Amino acid sequence: MERSLPFTQEHQIFQEAFRKFITAVIADHYESWEKEGIVPREIWKKFGDNGYLVPWADEKYGGAGADYLYSVIIGEELARYGAGSVFVPLHNDIVVPYLDAFGNEEQKQKWMPGCITGDCITAVAMTEPDAGSDLAAMKTSAVKKGGKWVLNGQKTFISNGILSDLVVVAAKTGGADTPVHQSVSLFVVERGAPGFTRGEPIKKIGLKAQDTAELFFDDCEIPEGNLLGQEGMGFIYLMQKLQPERLLCAIGSQAAAEKCFEITVAYTKERKVFGKPLSRFQNTQFSLAEMATELAVGRSFVDDLIKAHMAGKSVVNETCMAKFWITEMAKRVADQCLQLFGGYGYCAEYPISRFYLDARVQTIYAGTSEVMKMIVARGLGL
Ligand SMILES: Cc1cc2nc3c(=O)[nH]c(=O)nc-3n(C[C@H](O)[C@H](O)[C@H](O)COP(=O)(O)OP(=O)(O)OC[C@H]3O[C@@H](n4cnc5c(N)ncnc54)[C@H](O)[C@@H]3O)c2cc1C
Repeated sequence: MERSLPFTQEHQIFQEAFRKFITAVIADHYESWEKEGIVPREIWKKFGDNGYLVPWADEKYGGAGADYLYSVIIGEELARYGAGSVFVPLHNDIVVPYLDAFGNEEQKQKWMPGCITGDCITAVAMTEPDAGSDLAAMKTSAVKKGGKWVLNGQKTFISNGILSDLVVVAAKTGGADTPVHQSVSLFVVERGAPGFTRGEPIKKIGLKAQDTAELFFDDCEIPEGNLLGQEGMGFIYLMQKLQPERLLCAIGSQAAAEKCFEITVAYTKERKVFGKPLSRFQNTQFSLAEMATELAVGRSFVDDLIKAHMAGKSVVNETCMAKFWITEMAKRVADQCLQLFGGYGYCAEYPISRFYLDARVQTIYAGTSEVMKMIVARGLGL
């Protein structure tokens, strides 16, 4: 099915170059990064050197002022390759946009250039041990003392938690009587801030090369100027940025599911059982036909949302629908594809096993499927 997005020749050249970059820089090393649980810092520098970090950023900070389709290409190609642990899309299209949208000029001059070169890796810290889906329950606090902000609390499951040089942290600044939506502020905590420490990378069943970690703030002092945007507006800012975050999950999951499907179709044509190719059995054909249909539905939906997002439209509810439906679909597809690989699908050396494991988290982070459905239901006036 031809895509309806306005890809130009420049986009295609960029995509081709990025594919070559993945082959040259990621392909031979990814397995060892999975064993180490982390992508080396110098890889981020290589992304930066080649213009793959924050391509949309303003030229005055060193960006290319590129449109959103370049971000789409980066997200899709990493997902298609099965390099889902390289959390460049989180940096490019989730965290740095907070700096760009809510930072003042001084903050942007200070941090944006490093985010583009790869000298400054970013993370966003919202989740806490007792505040995941229910973010309003967060306990991390920030108090102004002697010209500094002092943070206390703990965050968990923070992607890029070990590598990050700059973390956008959500903390409560309001008192007990402050309405919940005015009680949170966003802060930039830099590597080396006194009282800021990190745990060991969390061992996960998938996204094994992704350095997900706990962060601790014990009387952590940061300059007054590290408040991002206005005090008390953090919750609103987080909500504003959830649309692109969820869209990015849908984009990556759709691309990963399409790749799973492609490698499975090829495998079923090669693998012979009972004297004929697996693809000749009706069960295989029905299974693949069902997946092809779901993939086509997902593709049109996500591409429509990309167009709407690029046009600056608010498609919050539709993005929540896509986040839960496409990530759940990708999970189903990965599971059915693995089944068609038989025992080989269960072996780490077959890429399908990594797609299967990496798909699992997509229905959990950036808002669980259940939370997405709650938002969709609210949009229906229920
Ligand atoms: C690999 C990974 C990376 C992550 N990266 C980040 C990151 O970079 N930054 C960050 O801030 N966070 C991150 N997270 C955290 C993630 O966003 C949370 O895990 C997620 O929001 C769910 O929160 P929880 O884990 O506390 O689950 P819980 O909120 O405890 O949910 C448990 C179950 O209860 C369900 N549930 C919750 N509320 C309701 C309800 N009202 N009705 C019905 N069911 C409900 C949920 O859907 C889920 O099935 C990451 C998580 C993972 C696993």
